[in-house]
Amino acid sequence: MVTMLEKKCSKCKKLKTLNDFYDNKGHNRHCKKCMRLWNKKYAKTHKKQRNEYAKKYRKKYPNKIKKWKRNHKWAISYYQAKQRCENKNNHNYKYYGAKGIKMLMTIKDFKYLWYRDKAYNMKKPTIDRINNNKHYTLQNCRFIENYINSSKDKSKLSKAQVIKIRKLYKQKKIIQEKLAIMFNTGRTNIQKIVNYHSWKHI
Ligand SMILES: [Zn+2]
Repeated sequence: MVTMLEKKCSKCKKLKTLNDFYDNKGHNRHCKKCMRLWNKKYAKTHKKQRNEYAKKYRKKYPNKIKKWKRNHKWAISYYQAKQRCENKNNHNYKYYGAKGIKMLMTIKDFKYLWYRDKAYNMKKPTIDRINNNKHYTLQNCRFIENYINSSKDKSKLSKAQVIKIRKLYKQKKIIQEKLAIMFNTGRTNIQKIVNYHSWKHI
């Protein structure tokens, strides 16, 4: 029997409570679950249109975007990491996606870590993979101060080694992967050194 508080979804034909429907000037004909599935499908088949719409929206409401970014810093961090892993055009893809590093977290996981690690108290929070050879997983990630992140491997090397790394890279054209093995450090660390993103003072 259909009571006042129940409704049949016209898509999945299931009898659901009114809470299972989005209230959009009277309730929708399709239940939330069906709507979400439809949205997902639509997003996949209309990528271009959605991107264009998003672009226009960003242009039209820059302040709304700014405000949202301020209040969802973990989300920014998530999208950046996801891009590094999945977007071949991202300039850092070669150090992540191309190396097989996968994004195995959701935006909610990032939010959880953000509050667990009190990233909101940090000056420049950054997501850190505890083991650099492992994927972005809840177990392998944490938010830390950026300067700690970029000096994580740095501390293992001496000044003389850094100079030698740069020399070998520039003059002997030894590739970064090989240097990483030679100096028993991470590939990302070598990349930062040769590009002067770390050890800038030398
Ligand atoms: Zn339904």
